[in-house]
Amino acid sequence: MVSWMEDPKIVVPRSKEVYSQRALDLHFSSLVVDTHADTISRYVDDGEDLASETGRGHLDLPRIRDGNLGVQWWSCFVAASHVPQMNTIDRCLELLDGLKRLTAENPDDIEIALTAADCRRIVAEGKHAAVPCIEGGHCINESLPVLRTYWELGMRYITLTHFNTNTWADASTDAARNNGLSLFGRDVIQEMNRLGMVVDISHVSDKTFWDSIEVATKPIMASHSSAWELAKHPRNMKDDMLRAVATNGGVVNVNFAASFLSERHRIESEKNSEEMWEEVEEVEKFARRSAIAHYSGTPEYVQQQTAEIRQRRRRMAREIELPTLSEVVDHIDHIAKVAGVDHVGLGSDYDGIGGGPIGLEDCSKFPGITEELLNREYSEADIKKILGENTMRVMEANIGE
Ligand SMILES: [Zn+2]
Repeated sequence: MVSWMEDPKIVVPRSKEVYSQRALDLHFSSLVVDTHADTISRYVDDGEDLASETGRGHLDLPRIRDGNLGVQWWSCFVAASHVPQMNTIDRCLELLDGLKRLTAENPDDIEIALTAADCRRIVAEGKHAAVPCIEGGHCINESLPVLRTYWELGMRYITLTHFNTNTWADASTDAARNNGLSLFGRDVIQEMNRLGMVVDISHVSDKTFWDSIEVATKPIMASHSSAWELAKHPRNMKDDMLRAVATNGGVVNVNFAASFLSERHRIESEKNSEEMWEEVEEVEKFARRSAIAHYSGTPEYVQQQTAEIRQRRRRMAREIELPTLSEVVDHIDHIAKVAGVDHVGLGSDYDGIGGGPIGLEDCSKFPGITEELLNREYSEADIKKILGENTMRVMEANIGE
């Protein structure tokens, strides 16, 4: 089979974007790596045929090819709601099984990669390399044997937390209950380092980050985080954290979520969500008063009214103007300036965010990043680092060749 990397002319970007020949040549001769996408649940839960042009979401195999997305770290994302249901492991394995089924069904197009060498070989053979990984440290169920088994099954990073604080690590968007990493959390990092599993600090609180960087003996990764200086979302990373990742030899891969990219979008979204809670509170207050007066304060009334409010506010959230491709590159630029060009890469979070940025609506538009970096006079060697080589270096440093 002819590698589409070797012969860029066989690819006409489906996106119909006009990219310069120089950008296309550079992009299609680079190893492009993205370290976070939640796409596999579309295959497992919704039965979408990712081998075809789905016309939905951000990733499918035809668009992966169009964007020359050589390596995707496919996240097995397990929501916090599985913790009380006590089925985090089941859910995590369901998703891994889905990824393995997808690759088995499409052996000419996609293959599981467990090492950096696998990634390079698979891409050179003209296929997409899929690296399995886990989002949500609660998936290990407080068990190092479970962690080791995930490694054996092929999982190559674990995001220490998701939006929720778990029993051993605090999240950036939840209450601090462990003062960062607990003693067991430190054991988790040591065991991940020993195995070669990448420690992913996206989602963790600042204190958990600093604890992790203190314990880690190998380069860490922020698989999908952006720069706090440009958008003050708690999920983003402050400049001193970026510099610490540089010292550690790790990599920060930029997330494409609108409120992580744009301070304007973050403020408008927060306002919308605060107003939603105020409206809900009003309905509940009214219902309580009505109940006292033996009037219409029934649970059904409250449920129906609050559902309508939520629906309307969700619609309004979708209408907030999205940031652009150029703003994604602003984050890359900022991290490159603060941490150095060796410590930044791509972590779109595709299929885990709402709408993609304008100009980066799905993975077929990845060449636009190369174009914009060229416009900003990055050297071709530095662009290759940003597109994937930095992440490959971190993968090799953790897992070995
Ligand atoms: Zn995430």
